[in-house]
Amino acid sequence: MALAHSLGFPRIGRDRELKKALEAFWKGELDEAGLRAVGRDLRATHWQLQKDAGIELLPVGDFAWYDQVLTHSLTFGVVPERFRPHSGKPGLDTLFAMARGVSGGCCGGAHAQEMTKWFDTNYHYLVPEFTADQQFQLSWEQLFEEVDEAHALGHPVKPVLIGPLTYLWLGKAKGGEFDRLDLLERLLPVYGEILQRLAAQGVEWVQIDEPILVLDLPQEWKSAFERAYNLLQREPLKKLIATYFGGLEDNLGLAASLPLDGLHIDLVRAPEQYPTILDRLPAYKVLSLGLVNGRNVWRCDLDKALDVLRHAHERLGERLWVAPSCSLLHSPVDLGREDKLDGELKDWLAFAVQKCAEVAILGRALNEPEAPEVLAALAHSRTVQADRARSPRIHKPAVQARLAAIEPAHSQRRSPFAERIRQQRAHLDLPLFPTTTIGSFPQTASIRLARQAFKQGKLSAAEYTEAMHSEIRHAVEVQEQLGLDVLVHGEAERNDMVEYFAEQLDGYLFTRFGWVQSYGSRCVKPAVIFGDLSRPKAMTLDWIRYAQGLTNKVMKGMLTGPVTMLMWSFPREDLTREEQARQLALAIRDEVVDLEAAGIRIVQIDEAAFREGLPLRRSQWQGYLDWATEAFRLCASGVADQTQIHTHMCYSEFNDVIESIAAMDADVITIETSRSDMELLEAFKAFAYPNEIGPGVYDIHSPRVPDSAEMAGLLRKAAERIPAERLWVNPDCGLKTRAWPETEAALVNMVAAARQLRAQFA
Ligand code: GLN
Ligand code: ZN
Repeated sequence: MALAHSLGFPRIGRDRELKKALEAFWKGELDEAGLRAVGRDLRATHWQLQKDAGIELLPVGDFAWYDQVLTHSLTFGVVPERFRPHSGKPGLDTLFAMARGVSGGCCGGAHAQEMTKWFDTNYHYLVPEFTADQQFQLSWEQLFEEVDEAHALGHPVKPVLIGPLTYLWLGKAKGGEFDRLDLLERLLPVYGEILQRLAAQGVEWVQIDEPILVLDLPQEWKSAFERAYNLLQREPLKKLIATYFGGLEDNLGLAASLPLDGLHIDLVRAPEQYPTILDRLPAYKVLSLGLVNGRNVWRCDLDKALDVLRHAHERLGERLWVAPSCSLLHSPVDLGREDKLDGELKDWLAFAVQKCAEVAILGRALNEPEAPEVLAALAHSRTVQADRARSPRIHKPAVQARLAAIEPAHSQRRSPFAERIRQQRAHLDLPLFPTTTIGSFPQTASIRLARQAFKQGKLSAAEYTEAMHSEIRHAVEVQEQLGLDVLVHGEAERNDMVEYFAEQLDGYLFTRFGWVQSYGSRCVKPAVIFGDLSRPKAMTLDWIRYAQGLTNKVMKGMLTGPVTMLMWSFPREDLTREEQARQLALAIRDEVVDLEAAGIRIVQIDEAAFREGLPLRRSQWQGYLDWATEAFRLCASGVADQTQIHTHMCYSEFNDVIESIAAMDADVITIETSRSDMELLEAFKAFAYPNEIGPGVYDIHSPRVPDSAEMAGLLRKAAERIPAERLWVNPDCGLKTRAWPETEAALVNMVAAARQLRAQFA
């Protein structure tokens, strides 16, 4: 028997009930009691779903009103001064203020805590803020209340805590530099208190998440693990330490030997660590194997998982547990909800509810191998794997033949940049400091309404096209009046920069309810790559051609790059990410070539997620960077020298990847810099970026309109590091979230700033 447990369940609800309740509460349409009732119902439903699926030890502490790291901060009383209530303990209002900020009020409001990505997922957590004199005290009862709640429902539970080291690692030092590790001694007594209270509630096992054990850790942090857990081992309760999102590698010995009662490892991301773990695990410890992928939507290959499990069972007997690889927070809730997917596709998928059933059946298969349910599940899994392996919906000989025929030359522009830019300058005839934008213009309510009406069949295709044409006409008119040099069509027809293209490619499928929490009440519904990818017909050509027909100025074509398409989709598990990126690259390459043939002289290929793809471990960076740059070049290199390729990236931490960015060999890159006051230019001290570059001169994330002197100042700063003839002038990202008045006001100033610089450098 292997005990089936889960590391965490999605909290948002299969109909996004939590999202809806939160938003109603924030608008004042639902009171706190109403919100709390929704939370309680969701927790009860989720425990029952997991239990019905066969999970034996249910997680508590995976529910959060906004984010589990934020809940943790409240639990330990890590509430920044600006949010601290005048009297008494923090309440839900404190929690939402920390998450969302407060505007106005007596003291001018308080900005929200910073948010950042949870390891390499698309989930965002609220960064704890620590001060040098940080005190910790138990300040939030949620975990204990939820344990009581589960017990009252008769559930066997395993509370989940973020471990002390991971918690400190995720936070930031505020109000002066200091070492966060210095806080550990003050933090641990509160962990002790929590464990004692849980024990008093009758809890047997607690799960302590320490995912930083899969990262490259400095020696002091490794040593701190031993210190911390030597202290915590004294507390009552059995403790399972959970690691996920990667392999333990050099931390394996450390993780195995910590004085705890169990260890969970992710065998989906890092199957290779299994044999070593078996050898290093002390004889008293439970080993939990994460065999069902908690981060993707595919049905598990039960035979494959069972092979490992059987082997482990021989060695470990009762000390073996089975689980999803990580919390199911990162997977959609219930496949049963999908009523529009065809039966075959649906049969290939598994969401959180189904994954729990997979975990449970794996556990049962060990001691009841002949149980009819076990046999049926294994037979079904086998059929699905076999069907998929030979399905013509997945395997496209034409795509594979094309992939096999790729030669190194396909990922090389014909001439080096110096020669290309000479031809491009002649072909484009642009002034010094050319001005442009990143692609999108305001997505107004009328655009969204038109799209909705079209989808519901209330607008005909012709009416919809005319509505979009009228938006394009407006965008082109405005840009001509502003005096911009390189125009865009404005992307009115695009709902989302990935979904728009995914919908037009073969090999993608779309769910109706496959929502995954991104942060707070925000959810995303990523498209799913299920088969070999290809482009049946041109995707953007008609719109761009229409836009170019309206002006004599250069119209930039606008595409999303292969790496970003991949990072923001659920990928296949039967093909490497690298191969999927190459398929996407070929499909987009066809579009680039079509645009060129239609007379488009500049094509921008956005790679907003390029840096996001970096693996957690440094040792794996170069491998990723090599295939990612290669995929970009494959999609960009089908055109003649005189066609100019732009790319765009939305962040400013380039210092550690600048050489790979250069290796992408785009003729022009536009990037974010304005928020960091051209900090990015630091990267150019050590490495001379060889091609043209448009450092964003104003922050589109804020409605503030900077004056032209401010923008000109930033450009002068840039010109100290980058030769003036290689500089472009542009905002730092697309303008779709802004309104027209502030957009026009900012662009007037931007064009004026460019003119000042031209005069100065002429
Ligand atoms: N071209 C896209 C836009 O302007 C780029 C968006 C992005 O980088 N996130 O909206
Ligand atoms: Zn951007």
